Amino acid sequence: MTLRIGVIADDFTGATDIAGFLVSAGLRTAQLNSPQQAPENLDAEAVVISLKTRSIPAQVAVEQSLAACRILQELRAEQIIFKYCSTFDSTAEGNIGPVTDALLEELGEEFTVVVPALPVNGRTVYRSTLFVHHQPLHESGMKDHPVTPMTDSDLLRLMEAQSSGTATSVPYAVVEQGPDAVREALRQARSEGARYAVPDTLNHDHLDIIGQAATGLRLLTGGSGIGSGLARALTGQSGQPAQPAQQGGTGAPDAASPAEDWSFTSGAAVVISGSASQMTNRQVEAYAAEAPSTALDIPRVMDDAAGYLEELSRWVLENSTAPDSTDQAAPMVYATAAPEKVKQWQQSYGAERLSAAIEEFFGELAARLRSGGVTRFIVAGGETSGAVTQALGVDGFEVGPQIAPGVPWTRSLESDPQQGIDLALKSGNFGDPDFFRTAVQMSSGASSTVQPTTGQQKEDR
Ligand code: ADP
Repeated sequence: MTLRIGVIADDFTGATDIAGFLVSAGLRTAQLNSPQQAPENLDAEAVVISLKTRSIPAQVAVEQSLAACRILQELRAEQIIFKYCSTFDSTAEGNIGPVTDALLEELGEEFTVVVPALPVNGRTVYRSTLFVHHQPLHESGMKDHPVTPMTDSDLLRLMEAQSSGTATSVPYAVVEQGPDAVREALRQARSEGARYAVPDTLNHDHLDIIGQAATGLRLLTGGSGIGSGLARALTGQSGQPAQPAQQGGTGAPDAASPAEDWSFTSGAAVVISGSASQMTNRQVEAYAAEAPSTALDIPRVMDDAAGYLEELSRWVLENSTAPDSTDQAAPMVYATAAPEKVKQWQQSYGAERLSAAIEEFFGELAARLRSGGVTRFIVAGGETSGAVTQALGVDGFEVGPQIAPGVPWTRSLESDPQQGIDLALKSGNFGDPDFFRTAVQMSSGASSTVQPTTGQQKEDR
């Protein structure tokens, strides 16, 4: 099988996000977590390598991204996408700019595109300004992000501030004209010395157009939307009308979906929420009303982690869903809190130290629960998902059906399928308020009783 697309994703949920879109476009997709080497006998048309490089020092992010790029080259990936967040989560130090520059150099290229837009989730780009629904990025919830607060919305400025080249816009009027016009605009931008082109992207059709125009580029950069655009161009779906987003849908047509005959493990399920974003706060509130739930006791995480882990894992196991039971919801443990509360805790313990401690705690909790018979993990938060996945020793997944746009169920790649784990890894603001219930019910075989979701989010990353 030819590897059409290799993706380097800067966090775990971003990786599952783009993988879901590649699957929806009809590409058989595997996801590998921080692999040390290229796996043998990988049968896939797309491979997504998930890293945890979004908010680590730029130099380390560059090294890890280059290592991933070399693995993809070894697997003979025809095109490479550097996937980052649709809200361009970064600072003036990086890591989007430095990683993009390093990948260009590694691939012997001088030019790429910057396409964070994901219109199905309200991320659009107009006149190079990134919007989150009706607000420019810097007025959205992202202005308060604990690690990468976004204080500018102009993608040309944002990109140039953290990279070595110049960025230029491909205006809306050009994108509207179609793939040939965009291809010509990219050629012209490149000949005039630009290193990054930022196409305006107002809707799903624009992603298709940009995807078609970019089939000749060795490197693309952006959000999961450009993964959809490029994959649909490669599988001949571009230009077909997108179906309305629906339960399990992405807003894009489901091709002969590799996710069609998907089955779940039958062990217990748990919800672990370490995301502090606005939508996750709503999701936690909604799910807490219907399932056993417990808020993380932060001082105990900091001062009595061992005893607290013991206690909490016992609590989860006692409250776990019986296999295939629909009358009891999976228990939830959450650190999720309102921004003022998070700020207070950060002031008490130091933001970085606290984040790391909570992530580590959740990782250890997940590992204990796995030993206790939990096999279905629903995790909220990009960094949190990374920590949990690492602690569970999951090296790779097969990517399955979507719970919400950008959030598929995945199954760990194991030599013995009996040992498999189901994972739903939800980034920040993805999903609608009923996300946790939808995920639990899908995985417990009760999807026919799940309330239809609109497939749209109020706010996400
Ligand atoms: P998101 O995808 O929403 O950004 P992440 O898991 O990537 O979620 O990041 C959220 C960060 O905030 C994590 O490092 C997590 O440990 C930390 N965090 C979560 N809850 C709290 C809290 N109540 N106080 C302080 N930090 C928190």
